[in-house]
Amino acid sequence: MVWLIGAGPGSEDLLTLRAQRLLQDADVIVHDQLVPDVVVQMARRDAEQIAVGKAKGHHSFSQAQINTLLVRLASEGKRVARLKSGDPMVFGRAGEEIAAFRKAGIAYQVVPGVSAALAAAADTATPVTLRKVSSGFIMATAHGAEDDELQHWALLAGAGMTLGLYMGKSIAAQVAARLVAHGASETLPVGIVVNAGRANRTLYSGALGALASNQLDFADGPAVILVGEAVAEGDWAEAAQMSASSFKVA
Ligand code: SAH
Repeated sequence: MVWLIGAGPGSEDLLTLRAQRLLQDADVIVHDQLVPDVVVQMARRDAEQIAVGKAKGHHSFSQAQINTLLVRLASEGKRVARLKSGDPMVFGRAGEEIAAFRKAGIAYQVVPGVSAALAAAADTATPVTLRKVSSGFIMATAHGAEDDELQHWALLAGAGMTLGLYMGKSIAAQVAARLVAHGASETLPVGIVVNAGRANRTLYSGALGALASNQLDFADGPAVILVGEAVAEGDWAEAAQMSASSFKVA
């Protein structure tokens, strides 16, 4: 049996009771690098822990190796907790792992978690949907999927909804520039939360045009970029302000 468990954004009290219970039941925990130690340590003391960390820029295990590992552990009769940051179904490669389980006839169950963009919305009291302001919320990668790149940016720029962009910290200025190039307004509010859902979060806020024209030194840690009119409704008071000339850290 494999449980695909959402660990949430990285605080030990931002995961579900079900996740906590299954972590206690598991014989082996297979976790990503983004899952902080506080969460991994919620597992049973005698449970085996395997880090299959994918740090940015280097993959210690390929996805195929991870799939093979999970199938092997489950075939040995172990109860496997596959722990992923945020929600397992959002940019978590869960689709590939589930396909491997189906092929091997292994039972699995998915346990949802708080995805980073929603943790960022909570941190800043930003209503990602709001009557008359934003009729929807789009979670998207900041890297356009290669051959569909143009369509990706055109759709996002024209959506008129709140965007929650993942994996975009190192290319934040380019992301803003692409959205503007595809028709989004330079005055569109944007907010960035580094370490969302954690005690050490850092906020940045401003407009798309200002973000596009600045190369920023963000705080260390994973980040989500929220874009759209609804962002202006959030409480970004503690945020560093992005202005056309500067981008200060609070
Ligand atoms: N399954 C995860 C996403 C994994 S992809 C989820 O649902 O949240 C990795 C990306 O998630 C990072 O590049 C970053 O954009 C985002 N991320 C993960 N944890 C984060 C956190 N605590 N704060 C801000 N962004 C985070």
